[in-house]
Amino acid sequence: MLNIVLFGPPGAGKGTQSEKMIEKYSLIHLSTGDIFRKNIKEESELGKLAKSYIDKGQLVPDEVTINMLKQEVNNHSNAKGFIFDGFPRTNKQAEALDTLLKELNTEVTLMVSLEVEENELKQRLIKRAELSGRSDDADPKIIQNRIVVYQKETAPVKEYYHNQGKLKSVDGIGSIDDISSNIFKSIDNFL
Ligand code: AMP
Repeated sequence: MLNIVLFGPPGAGKGTQSEKMIEKYSLIHLSTGDIFRKNIKEESELGKLAKSYIDKGQLVPDEVTINMLKQEVNNHSNAKGFIFDGFPRTNKQAEALDTLLKELNTEVTLMVSLEVEENELKQRLIKRAELSGRSDDADPKIIQNRIVVYQKETAPVKEYYHNQGKLKSVDGIGSIDDISSNIFKSIDNFL
């Protein structure tokens, strides 16, 4: 199996690049943010819970997120592999993903980390808010909170994969196609 963790701060381009990777590698795309938003739309219990955190720019608790992700992986037992987009966001989630994949006799192949500096991120998120209608993109205070949470809780996850020799950083600034091409090179060189 080919299992890619696509990593980066909010606004780094994970969603956009996931689409390119799905096409090329025929992987199942699991975006925890998308799954939460679907649940919010459906007004499920999980959606109501997730919304109370997402609206503040906070992370949904690990236990809730990990259980949801496990179910999604188990629902795709015939997959050739996965793109994990927006997961793991804490070291605890990274450990849980290792355990889950081990049970399936597989592992994370590579973490691709999209590198974009903070000012560029803020500008992209404000622009995205006009198109996406996402309430957590619309308020600069919430954007700032998401960036702080990223730095404090999520950035250390990079170290986790670096220590396993699985981290590949890619410049996340430039044209969408140039960035995709750099991601593809990183993956293909690693295989
Ligand atoms: P995203 O679409 O990846 O930007 O995620 C939107 C929001 O969903 C985040 O700001 C978090 O509140 C929540 N979320 C998404 N993925 C996770 C995760 N792996 N752990 C905790 N919260 C998450």
